[in-house]
Amino acid sequence: STEGTATGTIPNDQLLGGLLSPNFNEQSCVSRYQSMLYRKASPYILSSSLINKLRKYEELHKKCSPNTPLFHQSLQQLKANNSTDQIKCNYVLWTPSGGLGNRMLAMVSTFLYALLTNRVMLIYQVDDMVDLFCEPFPGSTWYLPPDFPIKNLESYNLYSENSYGYMVEHNMINNDPNSPSSAVPSFIYLHLQYDYLYHALHKRFFCEDDQEVINKINWVLLKLDNYIVPGLFMIPKYEKELERMFPIKETVFHHLGRYLFHPSNSVWGMVMRYHNSYMAKAKERIGIQARIFNSAPISIDDLYKQIVTCTQDESILPKLNPEQSKNSFFVLNEATPRAVLLASLYGVLYDRLKNMYYLHSTTTSEIVSVYQPSHEENQQSEQQLHNQKALAEIWLLSFSDVLVTTAGSTFGYMAYSLAGIKPWFLMRSKDQKIPDPPCRRSVTIDPCFHSPPDDLICRTRNITNAGKVVRHVRHCEDFNGGVKLF
Ligand code: GDP
Repeated sequence: STEGTATGTIPNDQLLGGLLSPNFNEQSCVSRYQSMLYRKASPYILSSSLINKLRKYEELHKKCSPNTPLFHQSLQQLKANNSTDQIKCNYVLWTPSGGLGNRMLAMVSTFLYALLTNRVMLIYQVDDMVDLFCEPFPGSTWYLPPDFPIKNLESYNLYSENSYGYMVEHNMINNDPNSPSSAVPSFIYLHLQYDYLYHALHKRFFCEDDQEVINKINWVLLKLDNYIVPGLFMIPKYEKELERMFPIKETVFHHLGRYLFHPSNSVWGMVMRYHNSYMAKAKERIGIQARIFNSAPISIDDLYKQIVTCTQDESILPKLNPEQSKNSFFVLNEATPRAVLLASLYGVLYDRLKNMYYLHSTTTSEIVSVYQPSHEENQQSEQQLHNQKALAEIWLLSFSDVLVTTAGSTFGYMAYSLAGIKPWFLMRSKDQKIPDPPCRRSVTIDPCFHSPPDDLICRTRNITNAGKVVRHVRHCEDFNGGVKLF
């Protein structure tokens, strides 16, 4: 069990002002009690409504968790294939796919959806997620047991016959919530992965009426790799509740991410060894996360120039001293450096940035040390150690004072949202060239929803331009067509 006996003895600041439950055993997950020593306290209000909601959710999760009688009862209903019996526990089961950043965005989205619909969030366990995160809910697990009757969730896709889109299209489900006689299946598959817009009916998830219908179904199986939270804010039914929980809209990921994600002791060990070896003594910590997407190609050479121009123009890093010999002797032996943590798949960027500040003095006489924890060269999201390194780097970046991240990168979104810092985005290349300007400051700390619904006609609220539907959601500065909360 993850439950401890020390209830009430843990100081409130260690529980992030009441965000975290006191009902855990500290040794089982050291990062839960130590992240706050390295990361700055959140300057953003935490509502009592969110805190209450989380404590209630924890009770529900414990009551309905795998291996409880209520869980077994719902499995019986799943096998019988109907949701007609009112049941105490309803579930949303999320299946991981894509890179770690995408997964974490999806996990927060799924959790918020669970909070709004009183469902219990479970995860379909895959090998590469093992020993990555601690269990987030006291006295229970969020992993589905292996004997779950529905198998091969990985293979569900856009065209699956159990999907909401397919069932509505073929009149297998009535999506008029006022029609009394319609039979409700025991489970439904919701396909909300990046390609969901290719099938016009999947996006009806974002209509209020369809939400009413889905809410009657005992099990929701969800494939999601996106940050749908801004989309949830567009559904009238959930507006008031969201407003109560998040008086400052842009803090959804910031608070829920700090609540849900605690690196396992193995990953925390990596974070601590690295931080204390290289970053702890720095005067200022600057995190740079640089990534090249196939959809926005750029040479390493140009990416390097883009980083240098951005960081020097925006006074994030000092400029080089043109009169090298004059100034270089003013550097004191004990000077505490500005430390740059460079997270990137590519080792070359590190060599070049480090060499630049080794070979040259700076106009401010400051010394700049550059560190890179790993350079994996390729994405390998099916490998556990690769994902552990990625998580460790997200954590190290989130301890920064200033962040520069790659536009459109969900890996970067994790770092800045958890930190609660508005980053500079390294903008996407244009025609394989360095964009002008090379970077832009984000106006908020929340991630961008890359593929919001479009041309959606609903009874209560249409979504024709996702950036203009509700006051608190607008287009993202770093990704065309995406929307974010502000
Ligand atoms: P996105 O593709 O940038 O939106 O971010 P994702 O996290 O979804 O997918 C990229 C994956 O590539 C990460 O999860 C890592 O596995 C790997 N990756 C990308 N950049 C880095 C990096 O700087 N450090 C490490 N360790 N892994 C990275």
